[in-house]
Amino acid sequence: MKGIFKRVVMLMAMTGFIVSLSACGPNGSGTSENGGSAVPAAPEKVYRWKLITTWPKNLPGLGTGPERLAEKLRVMSRGRLDIKVYGAGELVGPFEVFDAVSQGTAEMGHGAAYYWRGKIPIAAMFSTVPFGMNAQEMNGWLAYGGGMELWRELYEPFGLIPFAAGNTGVQMAGWFNKEINSLSDLEGVKMRIPGLGGEVLKRAGGIPVALPGSEVFTSLQTGVIDATEWVGPYNDLAFALHTVAKYYYYPGWHEPGPTLEAIVNKNAWESLPEDLQVMIEVASRSVNDDMLSEFTARNNAALRTLVDEHGVELRRLPDDVIAALKTASLEVVAEAASTDELSQRIYDSYMAFLADVRAYHEISEQEYVNIR
Ligand code: CA
Repeated sequence: MKGIFKRVVMLMAMTGFIVSLSACGPNGSGTSENGGSAVPAAPEKVYRWKLITTWPKNLPGLGTGPERLAEKLRVMSRGRLDIKVYGAGELVGPFEVFDAVSQGTAEMGHGAAYYWRGKIPIAAMFSTVPFGMNAQEMNGWLAYGGGMELWRELYEPFGLIPFAAGNTGVQMAGWFNKEINSLSDLEGVKMRIPGLGGEVLKRAGGIPVALPGSEVFTSLQTGVIDATEWVGPYNDLAFALHTVAKYYYYPGWHEPGPTLEAIVNKNAWESLPEDLQVMIEVASRSVNDDMLSEFTARNNAALRTLVDEHGVELRRLPDDVIAALKTASLEVVAEAASTDELSQRIYDSYMAFLADVRAYHEISEQEYVNIR
């Protein structure tokens, strides 16, 4: 009884109910301390799960997201949901996370929906779209604009339940070993760039290469690639990308605020009692917010370090390059939508929300930044 009561209180507190414990009376918990029940509490079931990720183990920001998610869940559940986190390659390869969780090899995964673009082209819209929504706008679409319902529908045939579980904010355009002064300089550049951005780069003359984070540094160092995007100053400094490339370009047109995902195997999800399910929802929402806060706080100092201490040359992409990338982006995103009816609905929902939020943000967030 005691355990159940505590769980109810915890659940109510988590979901925003204000609970007055005294209203339940001093013996409201039904404990046997005052000569109550003689029935011993049954031992609580412990769920031991594996969480596999697309990130190198303990990578700052991205990799600590799933670590924090598991830790919060362990504490919130008082050990009833005990999740062990595996970095990329420890249990399965980084790009095998989706299939492995779908098949039940692990109960949970953490990654980004655009990594599954080869399997589900439209999935990228639940991570990030070139020239699309930023983090704040993505969170609005997912939580209150119908996005999450569509995401659940998209993953349903794979036996997966997705949650938003992290966001980096606007990324950097990437690291280059030569200057990009005009569109012709992009011709033939081999660049690590995932998601729809890779396809866009291809149409603008570049050669996109899909590489997991763990291979980015070596590939740039050895000349397998000429350029790479990764995340932003905080993560890029941790990867020491400034030691293998000279120019650091902005803005991150291809990733204006990618949502990272936690995915849960549907059978594993259904095996959980409701309070643990709610804890996963709440902890994911918390990590989603926490990661953006951490990047917002740490990118600034990291950029100063890169420029002031390491002599990194900061450059803005030229206007003609941005214009060409934008034109190609509109084509690529529309093509991903045309594959089937659900993809079209996802595209329509995303684009309608973007049009609305953009109109308002032009006179609110954007105008404020301009006048500040
Ligand atoms: Ca990136």
